[in-house]
Amino acid sequence: RIYLDHNATTPPLPEVTQAVADAMGQGYANPSSQHDDGRRARRPLEQARDAIATALGASTAVMTPDTLLFTSGGTESNNHALRALLGDDPRGRHVVISAIEHPSIAGLAEQLEREGATVDRLPVDPQGRVRADALAAVLRADTCLVSVMLGNNETGVLQPVAEIAKECRRRGVPVHTDATQVVGKMPVDFRRLGVSMLTFAGHKLHGPCGIGGLLIEGGLQAAPLLHGQPGSQRPGTAPVELAIGLQTAVELWQAEQAERESRMRLLRDRLEAALLAGEPQAVVVGAGAERLPHTSCVGFRGLDRQALQMALDRQGVACSTGSACASGSSEPSPTLLAMGADGGLAGGLDEGVIRGALRFSLGAATTAAEIDDAAERILAICKRLRSRQEP
Ligand code: PLP
Repeated sequence: RIYLDHNATTPPLPEVTQAVADAMGQGYANPSSQHDDGRRARRPLEQARDAIATALGASTAVMTPDTLLFTSGGTESNNHALRALLGDDPRGRHVVISAIEHPSIAGLAEQLEREGATVDRLPVDPQGRVRADALAAVLRADTCLVSVMLGNNETGVLQPVAEIAKECRRRGVPVHTDATQVVGKMPVDFRRLGVSMLTFAGHKLHGPCGIGGLLIEGGLQAAPLLHGQPGSQRPGTAPVELAIGLQTAVELWQAEQAERESRMRLLRDRLEAALLAGEPQAVVVGAGAERLPHTSCVGFRGLDRQALQMALDRQGVACSTGSACASGSSEPSPTLLAMGADGGLAGGLDEGVIRGALRFSLGAATTAAEIDDAAERILAICKRLRSRQEP
């Protein structure tokens, strides 16, 4: 089989599996315990926290104490980021998100509206870039948070988060960014971005599933998401072994960042070139924008994305019709709809592209042979489905 669904999850690298297994075999203690065993378990946890924060351009050091909360993954980090600033009673609070956020932000924003908050959604341009120029018109004196993702999980389009953060910082509004698809693919610098909070997840960067992180700028007043140990932002026994696995994944990425990025970009371009050559009606969504190196969203005009995805699955190619959480739904993706001409966006995607859109996402170990093989299988299926449509 050819796995081109790395945006859903990535296989842990062998070094990660080994590091987790080794850690599991070495002693056993709760890192919050006050005995020597607890202290011994705490040390690697703190080392992992420091190493990961430093790799992401933040610091948990004494002089600049940004916090890195270990969470269960991207969904929890995103929920925490919004709840941390809105608290348990969001009535009358104002939040800004973008129209293309992952369901873990978009769905929570709908819930916050039900609880009495007001949410504004920044629109995107036809390439799927959030319109930073629309920000000034929606910011209010009582805006308590802006959340805009760093790279979109469906199109791979990179978002103007630094520009948005600059404007928000001027007005004293904290900004959160969901960098779940960017960490492990492109350099990420928390302080340079100027955001107050940043989400990422281990299983998107060839690390373990079940652990993620939320970086929080030092000094930001954030309420705990869970209640338990007093004074703890995220109470509960910390998964030391998973933190070590996450640290290993981050360090492997750091060591080969530039090479991994250019390799995936070349393969992604090779796949797109082959598909466009064989399917002249196909469109690469967001092709005119800066994109993540490993994500390709291709709209096969005139074909149905679900029929395509199922046929490809039978032929041994795993890909997706949208974000993993939304796939299975027959509704078109809200992200692509936000880029659509039907919503009134001049030059936006036409309905045929949205109906026929598939997402292919590459990983650190994807090979040229797999890409060529996948392209052949995809084109053969497109041909077969088109021939069935002919009268
Ligand atoms: N944010 C983005 C952009 C994602 O792509 C995903 C996963 O698909 C998530 C958040 C959720 O992450 P997790 O599955 O770790 O909860």
